[in-house]
Formats: sequence, structure tokens, C-alpha cells
Amino acid sequence: MLLMQVINDNSCSWINDLLPRTNIQSIEGNNDCEWLIIGAGYTGLSAARKLAELNPTQKIILVDAQCAGEGASSRNSGYLVDTTLNDGFTSNKELENYKKKSDIYFLGINAVKKFIDDYQVDCDWNQCGKYFASSKIKDKKILTNFSNLLTKLGNDHKLYENYELSKKLGTKFYNIALYTKGGILLHPGKLARSMVNALPKNVQLYENSNLLNWSSFKDYICCDFKNGKIKTKKIIFATNGFLQSLGIKVNYNFPITLTASMTRSLTDYEFKSIGQPTEWGVLPVRPMGATIRMTKDRRILIRNTAEVYNPFIMSKEELKKRSLFQKIGIAKRFPELPQNIIQSTWSGIVSRTRNSSQIFEKIRENIFVAGCYNGSGIGVGTLFGEQIAIKANNENSKEIEVIERRNKPTWLPPQKILNIAIRSRLFYERFIAKSEI
Ligand SMILES: Cc1cc2nc3c(=O)[nH]c(=O)nc-3n(C[C@H](O)[C@H](O)[C@H](O)COP(=O)(O)OP(=O)(O)OC[C@H]3O[C@@H](n4cnc5c(N)ncnc54)[C@H](O)[C@@H]3O)c2cc1C
Repeated sequence: MLLMQVINDNSCSWINDLLPRTNIQSIEGNNDCEWLIIGAGYTGLSAARKLAELNPTQKIILVDAQCAGEGASSRNSGYLVDTTLNDGFTSNKELENYKKKSDIYFLGINAVKKFIDDYQVDCDWNQCGKYFASSKIKDKKILTNFSNLLTKLGNDHKLYENYELSKKLGTKFYNIALYTKGGILLHPGKLARSMVNALPKNVQLYENSNLLNWSSFKDYICCDFKNGKIKTKKIIFATNGFLQSLGIKVNYNFPITLTASMTRSLTDYEFKSIGQPTEWGVLPVRPMGATIRMTKDRRILIRNTAEVYNPFIMSKEELKKRSLFQKIGIAKRFPELPQNIIQSTWSGIVSRTRNSSQIFEKIRENIFVAGCYNGSGIGVGTLFGEQIAIKANNENSKEIEVIERRNKPTWLPPQKILNIAIRSRLFYERFIAKSEI
């Protein structure tokens, strides 16, 4: 197992929009509990909330290596997705597989919606749908196939082209887009923070506490941190992009580093120059194209990198290089805007599996894990967190039945071969999508 130290940059606009947290406690000395959850992103926070509801008198500890919720859960692009495009969907069998996936997305949206309603959360929720857009008119074929699939599944959607599209988005860059109505745009940091604030009283939260090592015995699991230990009866691993480094499902998942940038709010003049569009979100038709979003407060977010990179840190110099890349991406789409409007650039770690399927399972007696959501962790992470808690509590639910019907993650080759394979794949996909970055 690697001796880990998760170090994040402190330059994420979403996190900087929030008030700084106080009363942060770290693990010290020897601790005992009934339940331990490692990782306080959407998955771990939702697992803790649900476990506390199911076991109000039991002691639950939730631990994170950094500040709770401030990993990928606050660093993402904020698309709560009802559909994703980059899956197979041409034959009937693939339609069946896609349906399994979209059933999970649907439950994910419901899980977040219920949380928001129950706790009266303001996270800039906007059910404005999203666009799968391309500058290449030849991508119409892909979008038409996708449209046929969505029609079979009964998802509301519409194809847009040229003038109509540029009016909606305020950019002439895209020539074709498929708009899907069901998706939601939100502020990921506000959502994650509200989950931290909603933690019930019987959950003890420890932050800036790296799990360094863990071992399982017959009736308990022992976890080592720099300044203390925790002995627990049951454990849930919710560390997503860091599962592999903790020796969990190592042959089934791998970390990918994403970087994103956000501009300052556009001035009235700048906003008028692009036609004053209302909030929108674009996802690329090609996997390595840019995700780009206009927020309700007129900021532009862009994410156009995905790399095999040391998941524990990205230096300021490295971030700067990616920021330049994102500056070019914005300039291509909005040539009328000034060049230096990027306010912050940050990185975040996600977890991938070979067949893009999620991990949700009991890996050994009293040891559970949920993760690997690709670009759908807002909804699916919230859902999987709640449901892994129910499963670990030896209960069942209709959601668990839907989750367990999904295709299981497939086996990965050894790390060295895998890294070469992923790098070549990403290189190929970047080449195919080069005009869309
Ligand atoms: C730039 C970017 C854009 C994205 N866009 C979207 C999007 O638009 N929509 C969407 O649905 N998803 C998106 N995602 C993915 C989404 O953010 C993740 O799927 C989601 O955050 C997963 O939640 P999680 O709780 O499982 O993991 P995380 O949020 O990664 O939380 C895991 C936590 O585990 C902690 N941890 C790791 N190792 C240890 C250890 N040893 N000890 C203690 N704690 C540890 C970490 O500090 C972290 O806080 C994006 C991600 C990124 C980075």
C-alpha cells in the first residue's frame, strides 16, 4: 500500500465561493466505533447520513484526508446527469445495457432531489437540461443515433443546429447539438457543503486525517492514521479515485486526473457581446472534447483535460500549463471576450473502470466499497453512498436491486501495461476530438 498524502491546490472557484469551515478535528489517539467510513465526498457523506438514520444510537466515524467534501465532490462541473453519450447504444443488447445505466442515473437524480428537499438546500439547482454539442456537422450521425435511443427510452430531447444553437449558447463555435431536457446544473461545492452540514449528531467527522494503513481481523478492522488509530466493526471505503492506492479492487479501477478552469463573472458589456444567454451546460460528443458551462452568475467553466497523473498532487506550474489550454478553449468559443478572464484552475481525481461500470459491493466480511462513477458521481455517488449503507446494514431496497442489475466492472491488466493502454487511448481520443478541445 502507498503511504498517501492527499494534497490539493486551494484554487477552486466552487470552494472559494463557500465560507471557510471552522471546528475542524483530526484523528488523535485510540478510537473505537461500530462504523467507519473513509472518504467524505458525496459517497461517504451520504453513507454516513443514511447509516446514522438507520442506527441512531451507534457510533459512526467519518474520516477524510482533506477537508470534508473538498475533493472531487466540490471540484466537478456540476452536471447532475440523466444521460451520458459515450456508451455503446446501437444494438438491442446495448440498448438494454444503456437502460440499466440510465435507470441508475434516474435514481441518482431522485436521491439528490430528496436530499435537497429534506434539508432545504440551496445549491443553485437549475433543471435546464444540457447539450451534447459538436462543431463538426458530421457528428450529426452520432447525435441522430443517440436521439433514436433516447426516443426508445422516452427521454425528452431535441436537435439544434447553427443559428438556433448559437443564440442559445452565445457562441458560433458549435454547429450541431442534441439537447436533453432531464439534466440539472448545480453548484457542486454548495451541495457537498450542505451534506457536511447535514451530518447527524451520531456521526463524528475527522478531517485532514489520512488513512495510512488498514488490516482486517475476524471481528474488527484496524485503521492507522498519523496521530492515532481507529478500531471498527464495519467499514465503508468511499475514497473513489484513491481506492486503488488503498489496495481496494486494484484490478478493477484506476485514477484519472481532470483539470478545470473558471472565469470571473462577465461584465454587462461582455455578457451583452455574447447575446446574454441564460445558464447552459455543454458536454462533448467525443469523449475528450471540452465540457463547458455558463453559470447563472455569468462565469464560464471549462474542463478539457483527462490524464494519467500522480493523483496526490499537481504542482502550480503544471496547473498553469492546463490553464493555458483552457484559455485557448474559451478563446476559440468566445473570441469577443478578453483573454485574461480565467480566475481559477484546479485539479480533481476521479476513478474509472474498464467498462465504465460502477463498484458497489461487499469485498470481505464487514468491508464495503462504493465508487467509480465516471462523469456521473453527483447523482450516482449520492445514491451509492446511501445504498451501500443500507447494504452494509444487512438490509435491501428496490434501489439496490436496480444497482445490482448493472454490468459489473471488468478486470484490468497489470498497472504498467494498463498505464500504456490508458495513455494511448487518451491520446487517440484527444486526436479524434482535437477540434473540440
Ligand atoms: C473536474 C471534474 C469534473 C467533473 N464533472 C462532473 C459532473 O459534471 N457531474 C458529475 O456527476 N460528476 C463529475 N465529476 C466526478 C465527480 O466529482 C465524482 O464522481 C464524485 O465527486 C465522486 O464522489 P465520491 O464521494 O465518491 O469521491 P470524492 O469526492 O473524490 O471523495 C473521496 C474522498 O476520499 C478522501 N480520501 C482519499 N484517500 C483517503 C485516505 N487515504 N484517507 C482518508 N480520506 C481519503 C479524499 O480526500 C476525498 O475527499 C467530475 C470530477 C472532476 C474532478
